[in-house]
Amino acid sequence: MSETNTKKVFIKTYGCQMNVYDSDRMTDALSEHGYAPTTEMGDADLVLLNTCHIREKAAEKVYSELGRIRDFRDERGPDAKKMLIGVAGCVAQAEGEEIMRRAPAVDLVFGPQSYHRLPELVAKAGGERVIDTDFPQEDKFAHLPQPRREATIKRGLTAFLTVQEGCDKFCSFCVVPYTRGAEVSRPVAQVVAEAQALADAGVREVTLLGQNVNAYHGLNETGHSVGLGELCHMLAEIDGLERIRYTTSHPRDMDDALIAAHRDLDKLMPYLHLPIQSGSDRILKAMNRRHTAAEYLELIEKIREARPDMALSGDFIVGFPGETEADFEATLDIVKKVGYASAFSFKYSTRPGTPGAEMDGQVPEPIKAERLERLQAEINALQTAFNAGCVGMTFPVLIEKPGRNPGQVAGRSPYLQPVHIEADAGLIGQILPVEITGTAKNSLSGTIARGKARAV
Ligand code: SAM
Ligand code: SF4
Repeated sequence: MSETNTKKVFIKTYGCQMNVYDSDRMTDALSEHGYAPTTEMGDADLVLLNTCHIREKAAEKVYSELGRIRDFRDERGPDAKKMLIGVAGCVAQAEGEEIMRRAPAVDLVFGPQSYHRLPELVAKAGGERVIDTDFPQEDKFAHLPQPRREATIKRGLTAFLTVQEGCDKFCSFCVVPYTRGAEVSRPVAQVVAEAQALADAGVREVTLLGQNVNAYHGLNETGHSVGLGELCHMLAEIDGLERIRYTTSHPRDMDDALIAAHRDLDKLMPYLHLPIQSGSDRILKAMNRRHTAAEYLELIEKIREARPDMALSGDFIVGFPGETEADFEATLDIVKKVGYASAFSFKYSTRPGTPGAEMDGQVPEPIKAERLERLQAEINALQTAFNAGCVGMTFPVLIEKPGRNPGQVAGRSPYLQPVHIEADAGLIGQILPVEITGTAKNSLSGTIARGKARAV
């Protein structure tokens, strides 16, 4: 039974979808202790920043936001109600003590493994400054409340579901193994129960999350390890749950069972985010990715054999230490060979404590900027071509919400493109065939093609 919600929590989320999921879980945990969520910082008794440490810029944003919140709190004067300020997420995990030192206004700092203890930590922070960045042994998911039905309904037709956390891969540029800890998979029954609860609350599409989601190896009730492919089969049995996606995958963990699931399960969407990071074997080796460009291309071929319409996405880092123009051109080359439908690209950001930070041959900023621009031009051209190729096709779209303009609704294609449709809001919640009639920079437009079966 939850207490009456008399207090308010405002959460600002940075970074990846896993942080979005975590923020919702924090909201749910606090809700059982009398905190209702608010979108107005001015109303809040508790302000939480759920932070990202993946690149330097992401981490620095947190400190400037903390300064802004402190000023906001100070300007309210001594008579205003007390407002606690907390920092969660990967910056908290990596720089807990530093935050306490640099930002005296902060009352509470806690890492991603402590979210189930949040109500207790908040209560304590009312009287003293609190820091909790341990990696406790207990299963935090078993202690976090299930997503609340009313909250899930408000959050809409699509939901994230974290199935795996942490990483043992130790790519030499990446902080995740240090901030999120060792790789852990949630037990199968826990995941299935959460997915069932989401479906019961009206969720039609679930995106399974993990830093390395396809390394999932949760235990079933007989103590056997279940991979992501088998898990997708189990989730596909849930009535009402119509679409399954997952992100982010590592090429080395893309096993045959998961590839076969893409062939066999209509509910598993034909869109795969499979980062390679660089097209140069020399750089891949220095990055400790443990795959070559050729192995990656072979894998893509295998995936496309199983699911010919698979749309691919990826992540790229330019300017990793030692990257030459020839290495960078190998990246441009692989981008063209794969023909990504979309991709994310970043300038290498030195992260203290990772092996990359100690490597010789750090690439000057202007070169990184120039390479990023060239890479993004290539990716944008491919995305435009992919979207243009959809015009004239009819495919099923999950109608998710009202569109920007009256008389419009918005949804997603199987390939994750936003689709704007001239149609009535009464159709929200349905999956309908939509004929694609046009494209904009990052989206498609179309009309409902009644009576047409899926024609992809
Ligand atoms: N586990 C995923 C994988 O191996 O592909 C990636 C997860 S990571 C949270 C998301 C992306 O951030 C990475 O794919 C990488 O492109 C980017 N990234 C990570 N560390 C970075 C760094 N130090 N500088 C720039 N980009 C970085
Ligand atoms: Fe980071 Fe992904 Fe490499 Fe793990 S596999 S260290 S999360 S980039």
